[in-house]
Amino acid sequence: MKDDLFNEDLDYKILARRIEDKRDRRTFQKVFDSKTLDTVQALAQKGLFDVLEHIISTGKEAHVFIARDSAGNKRAVKIFKKETSNFKRMDGYIRGDIRFRDVPRDRRSLVLAWTRKEYKNLLVATRANLRVPMPTGFRENVIVMEFIGTGEEASPRLKDTRPTGEELLDYREQIARFVAGLYLAGLVHADLSEYNLLVQNGKLVAIDMGQALLVKHPNAKDFFERDVRNMANYFTKAGRPTTYEEMHAMVKAEKERMEKQKPKSRKEKG
Ligand code: ATP
Ligand code: MN
Repeated sequence: MKDDLFNEDLDYKILARRIEDKRDRRTFQKVFDSKTLDTVQALAQKGLFDVLEHIISTGKEAHVFIARDSAGNKRAVKIFKKETSNFKRMDGYIRGDIRFRDVPRDRRSLVLAWTRKEYKNLLVATRANLRVPMPTGFRENVIVMEFIGTGEEASPRLKDTRPTGEELLDYREQIARFVAGLYLAGLVHADLSEYNLLVQNGKLVAIDMGQALLVKHPNAKDFFERDVRNMANYFTKAGRPTTYEEMHAMVKAEKERMEKQKPKSRKEKG
């Protein structure tokens, strides 16, 4: 059934107008249903972007496109697959989150909740002045956000760069600040690693916040510790040996420093 949805001339023309790259147009056609096309169309109509230029990443859960708006500004558009294979994982993360307590457990509802969750998490982090792509809108299974790059080029993942010793020291501080700041904003990233950090002009930008959860979530402590451990391991591998304890202490020190700076903010334990 799904395959012939796009045989309709009208759908195809809309698609052709919105997706510039021919091969990506075919991928889109294969992977997404016509409802997703409508969603893309609706977001474009609202002016959040004009065209999808091409796909920059094809993951298990989502496709990420580079887009631009009518003024020529770049955007990133993350489109979650409704037929995601990682549906079990999503269920686990949504279940303990009081913000999504009433979400039904079917696949479609979960993917929509997941999209909304990533959007909200990005917004929380943006408002806390943390380096993440600023989200500009979402609808159904699609999020539009700030494009992280320089000029036409998308920023590389930390994993794909070779930082100098100096840079590693600086990155370690940036990470400690990010983890601490996010915690004080009420969230744990929960999938922090060199794969989900982009390097833009010497600054680390954290992406992929769908699984980020509230500090009050029953598993938050485990995920927090895992994030800290992942980063300590990364710095060690990259040539700046860092133990879990050291990384943890840096985050804690940043947290205390931030709490002092903002004496009126709520006291969080941890
Ligand atoms: P994966 O399964 O590969 O982790 P994902 O579906 O979880 O992917 P993300 O990690 O959010 O999706 O994004 C996938 C890739 O798309 C990133 O590694 C990055 O290269 C690119 N990307 C995502 N968001 C942006 C953005 N705002 N600006 C530029 N590039 C981005
Ligand atoms: Mn990712």
